[in-house]
Amino acid sequence: MENLHQHLSLALKQLRQANGWSLTLAAGRTGVSKAMLGQIERGESSPTVATLWKIATGFNVPFSFFVQGGAEPAGGVATFSQPNAQMQVKPLLPYDAQLRFDLLEVTLAPGAQSDSSAHESGVIEQVVVLEGELLLNIEGTWRRVQSGEASQFAADKPHSYRNPLSIPLRFHSLIHYLQRP
Ligand code: MN
Repeated sequence: MENLHQHLSLALKQLRQANGWSLTLAAGRTGVSKAMLGQIERGESSPTVATLWKIATGFNVPFSFFVQGGAEPAGGVATFSQPNAQMQVKPLLPYDAQLRFDLLEVTLAPGAQSDSSAHESGVIEQVVVLEGELLLNIEGTWRRVQSGEASQFAADKPHSYRNPLSIPLRFHSLIHYLQRP
């Protein structure tokens, strides 16, 4: 966890510096409080998956930017586990800058729900359930995706993931960042 804290801290500082954004401006662009951003930069807090997504979206970087090389040897991918361990995200491939996609493996604990803010404009998400059952909320409507099934949705609107069963839910999430420069 120490490594992950350090990695997130460095990644966020680097992004702010590259963009020339103050903490106040970064808070405005990401929707994450100045206090929380400051804590992450000081290595004092590990954010939830939902918070990390807000930061990635605000800075226009793929989710995997924050996880790659974190707790693994150079170039490796690490599993991001949020503090309450309800949700884990592991990039299965490094971000592909040419094809502009992330392939993530997501695990959601029994009964857990994760609410995601809108990703960048034009982002399309495809999910494939490996184990368990996924309830997806897209624009107020719940959609059931069972083991072995896939579903696609426009992820530039708020959406939620829920595990309705008493066993862990595991699914692949393929994120297409169509409008990234
Ligand atoms: Mn999403």
